[in-house]
Amino acid sequence: MKRWTTHIQNIHIILGAAATLVLMVAGALGWLGWRLLSQEETLARQQAHNQLEQTADVLSAGFVRRMTDTESWLSQVQSALPSGAASPSSPAAGAVVVKFSQAGIEVQPAGQLLYYPVAPSSGAFEADLFSEANKLEFQTQDLKGAAAACSVLTANKSPMVRAEALLRLARIQNKSGQLQESIATYEKLNDEQRISPLAGEPYGLLSRFQRVQLLANSHRESSARQAALALKTDLESGQWPLSKESYASYDKEVRDLAGESVESPALPAKLAVAAAVEKLWDEWQNFQHSGSRSLTKHLHDSGTVPVIAILNANPDRLAAAIYAGEALRRLAFGPADASEQRGLAVSLVDEHDQLISGSIPGADGLQTTRPLAAADLPWHFTLTGARMGAGLLPERRWFYIVTLAGIVLLVSLACYAMARGVIREAAAGRLQSDFVSAVSHEFRSPLTTLRQLTELLAEGRIHDESRRQLYFTTLQKETYRLYQLVEDLLDFGRMDAGRRQYKIEPLDFSELVRDGVYEYQRQSNGNGHRIELNSAEGKLPVNADREALRRVVRNLLENAVKYSPDSNAVWVETGCEGQLAVLRVRDQGMGIPREEQSRIFDKFVRGEAAKQACIQGSGIGLAMVKEIVRIHHGAIDLDSEVGRGSTFMVRLPLS
Ligand code: ADP
Repeated sequence: MKRWTTHIQNIHIILGAAATLVLMVAGALGWLGWRLLSQEETLARQQAHNQLEQTADVLSAGFVRRMTDTESWLSQVQSALPSGAASPSSPAAGAVVVKFSQAGIEVQPAGQLLYYPVAPSSGAFEADLFSEANKLEFQTQDLKGAAAACSVLTANKSPMVRAEALLRLARIQNKSGQLQESIATYEKLNDEQRISPLAGEPYGLLSRFQRVQLLANSHRESSARQAALALKTDLESGQWPLSKESYASYDKEVRDLAGESVESPALPAKLAVAAAVEKLWDEWQNFQHSGSRSLTKHLHDSGTVPVIAILNANPDRLAAAIYAGEALRRLAFGPADASEQRGLAVSLVDEHDQLISGSIPGADGLQTTRPLAAADLPWHFTLTGARMGAGLLPERRWFYIVTLAGIVLLVSLACYAMARGVIREAAAGRLQSDFVSAVSHEFRSPLTTLRQLTELLAEGRIHDESRRQLYFTTLQKETYRLYQLVEDLLDFGRMDAGRRQYKIEPLDFSELVRDGVYEYQRQSNGNGHRIELNSAEGKLPVNADREALRRVVRNLLENAVKYSPDSNAVWVETGCEGQLAVLRVRDQGMGIPREEQSRIFDKFVRGEAAKQACIQGSGIGLAMVKEIVRIHHGAIDLDSEVGRGSTFMVRLPLS
């Protein structure tokens, strides 16, 4: 008992050690994983940072290079702008390229300049030609005569005179109340690009504006609005070379006439370009007065529409490329913005931290800036690595967590298997030790009887013949019991090792059971129990080992008698169920609890009630019965209830 308590304590120690081991392994792995992850994270951040710095260097170098390329390209521009100056293959791709020279102002692409820094030059005509018409119109108020005089001039060979004559004719027709005629005359001038020497503005614009006003004054609102809208669109397309003042006044008037309208999205950029051209003009004036031989510089403005203008001037001309909007983005980031694909937010920011181009800088994540002092700009690039390397780490983290969980699970399983093994081993050990003590007990009582009786007989102390005879009978019985016990153990040993030989022969099961019962009764006298045998009618032929089946009958009978101490009868019955021979051994004894019913067929297992009632036994009887039945392809069943008794049923196939 003491040994067993120590054993249990040992098991607890082993289980505790296993649990501690699992915890320690899990803890160590967790710590290791965490360290590994944080190292990975630091490494990834370092890599991302390097990548960010590299990209920033590439970006700012690219920007400076593109500016220098433009500067050197501008310095090669001769007296005339090369055609396709702003084409995608040129360094000034997307920019507005302007040239100032004695010949005037040149712009590429056309229509990009809403107004010019100086009034455009116009042609001239002989003003005397119109003195007659002037006199008739303003002095004598002879509108008819004036109209006739102008009509004549509309056929003049000089296009300038024709244009001036048409403009005047339309005006006189309007004064005379000939509205339709006046409008028609104005329409003839719609496409006239020549600039009126008197107004300094193109005849086309003058006539179209007059026509809109005429329509508005004659209460033809919708036609007037439509015409005003068309005029506004053309004005914003930059097709007329206007001075800033002319553009501003036409813009205001036409807007009023057109009513509310959506502004073209390109307009602010065009206005910014026109303003930049104005500044360039000032630079050109200063340069001409300075007497310098050459000038290369750039102007920048980070207003509503940020602009960069790169200029190159020599005494003959000034050439400049003006970048705004998309052109500025291309100048800053290059044609293909690869940084965006790498998950970077790249932005060009001005001296007041206002975004000029690119994406809004990310608030968190890695960030770096590159000032553009090398390009002589107060602006800088800001790069934010918001998504950099972010995709990689969570994947790794999951990989580590899953691996860690897997390892912990494996260790736990291994420890569980170990603990289970230990518990099983302990249980087996306990059963074996129970078995040894039970067998020792079984041996002790016949041996004690043998020793005492042989002593009495040997010393010749028994003189009464009948008592001597009784002692001899007892000696015989006890010796047989010992023999039986040893036989049982030897047989069990052979069965357990799988070495038991079976001699299968055709038998009558019913007869075999009957013989077994008689033999048991003869040897033990039923141990005080009445054995009621109910044999099947006729034969129950089976192929079986006689000795083995006798052991089955004897064991079941012995148990039935042994475990029903308060009853005086057991019942044995043989019969036939279909193709099966059946043996039932029934008692009205202590019964077997449900939870023990399946275990009692295992070797060395004894019921708790049997042990507590100090009923002798070794726990191998039913194990042998089960094994013998299995060898004969049969089955054994048990029906038992505590306090009411048990019935063991053996079924064997009929031969
Ligand atoms: P034992 O030597 O203990 O009888 P067995 O293998 O023959 O070993 O039986 C195993 C256990 O089954 C017994 O210890 C007892 O608890 C229980 N048992 C067997 N037969 C009966 C029965 N007829 N009535 C009650 N309990 C029984």
